[in-house]
Amino acid sequence: MQKNRHVPERSCVACGAKMPKMQLVRVASSSEGTFTIDTTGRASGRGAYLCKSSECWEQAIVKGAIERSLRRELSAQDIGQIRTYYQENIAPNVTAT
Ligand SMILES: [Zn+2]
Repeated sequence: MQKNRHVPERSCVACGAKMPKMQLVRVASSSEGTFTIDTTGRASGRGAYLCKSSECWEQAIVKGAIERSLRRELSAQDIGQIRTYYQENIAPNVTAT
């Protein structure tokens, strides 16, 4: 088994913060045009990463940070997918300040 000491880092498309891939959520756009929340990190195609801050998800949706990064427009359905994922997985973990 190969031990990889180097932790791959990616930047959040909304705030630009660099952090280990594991702490980010990847969204991917395949060449067939399918948009997915890539929970396995293995979906093919162009990917964008988001940190788990609620502000970043808002920005990603409202200001189009994901669209810029994936270089495609998101359909209402795609955005619905993002919102659902956010509400189920991110929002409950965010501590209110
Ligand atoms: Zn962020």
